[in-house]
Amino acid sequence: MTNATGKINLLGLTQPKMEAFFESLGEKRFRAGQVMKWIHHFGVDRFEDMTNVGKVLREKLDACAEIRPPEVVSEDISKDGTRKWVIRVASGSCVETVYIPQNGRGTLCVSSQAGCALDCSFCSTGKQGFNSDLTVAEIIGQVWVANKSFGTIPAKSDRAITNVVMMGMGEPLLNFDNVVDSMLLMMDDLGYGISKRKVTLSTSGVVPMIEKLGEITDVALALSLHAPNNELRNQLVPINKKYPLEVLLPACNRYIARLGDKRVLTIEYTMLKDVNDQPEQANEMIELLRNTPCKINLIPFNPFPHSGYERPSNNSIRRFQDMLHKAGYQVTVRTTRGEDIDAACGQLVGQVMDRTRRSERYIALRELSADEPVTVQPSVSER
Ligand code: SAH
Ligand code: SF4
Repeated sequence: MTNATGKINLLGLTQPKMEAFFESLGEKRFRAGQVMKWIHHFGVDRFEDMTNVGKVLREKLDACAEIRPPEVVSEDISKDGTRKWVIRVASGSCVETVYIPQNGRGTLCVSSQAGCALDCSFCSTGKQGFNSDLTVAEIIGQVWVANKSFGTIPAKSDRAITNVVMMGMGEPLLNFDNVVDSMLLMMDDLGYGISKRKVTLSTSGVVPMIEKLGEITDVALALSLHAPNNELRNQLVPINKKYPLEVLLPACNRYIARLGDKRVLTIEYTMLKDVNDQPEQANEMIELLRNTPCKINLIPFNPFPHSGYERPSNNSIRRFQDMLHKAGYQVTVRTTRGEDIDAACGQLVGQVMDRTRRSERYIALRELSADEPVTVQPSVSER
């Protein structure tokens, strides 16, 4: 947990860990609460600004600890109010964090890894390959950075960030411990005080980790489904070959059943023209999800260069939505936000120093098959 400086970064400590830290210094546990409020409520990153902490203790802290947020490379604000931060993490890669204001809510979309090893066929993060897991300080640091950009942190009721979704870059369940600690900090009153219903973890379906998550937290769960049968899902979401639908959906059902309290699973379904947007697939979805308490979120595909996929027409999205709706499902279509700053779902690319060499392989493959017809989508920013 210590940094290159040899100091421990207090930004990433949950309350029990912060208490243990103060005890290890021979200090009282209540100091943990004081320091956490300075860090997370007031955005302070220097011990000298913590006015209710005595000088002797401040000096002791300075000697062995620090509050080191991740480096902000850039901050962009879209004309629709969406904000995007590019953040450099210790591995040298960059990840992205997006803030989306909508209907009185403010949702922060947080990254958990630099890149992603799971290689879903329609995801630009996946095409970047994988570089590193983010530390707790780098994950919660995204919330810290975003909160601070709205000025001094006001009373809880006026806070800009009301919801957090682990839907940025990476597969959160493959960086389990750090993601869980970060979500604990998001929900802790000494952290960001966000309710468990408003912290959502999105997964492509790492089944054993869904089980483990259910044993220790009660955050909201979103499943990136994208296909109603194994044959198609194997192509779109390769981890389906390891954890197919017949084990995945029961694991999600168990997670939701444990939460009780009328909570439901969110199903995310990225709509790809002529691939998974047909009435036939809508009918299969209707059957597949019969026993799953859920709401469905259709995400029109956000194009990126060389993806090979297209966004369906509004008519086919509407047709798909209507069919599910008539069968009794609650279905929403996600509106694309922050297009002018490339902040839409699935467009987060950061700058990943790929360790899997996937991006190289991907480019090489494209070059090899240059004589085959390839659907090249203009990126949103080029339109
Ligand atoms: N790895 C996790 C969370 C990050 S992805 C997961 O897969 O759930 C967040 C969501 O964006 C996922 O549902 C993902 O499938 C979707 N997505 C990825 N690429 C997309 C694209 N190009 N257009 C629209 N949605 C996309
Ligand atoms: Fe990874 Fe999620 Fe993208 Fe799949 S959709 S490659 S799991 S970030």
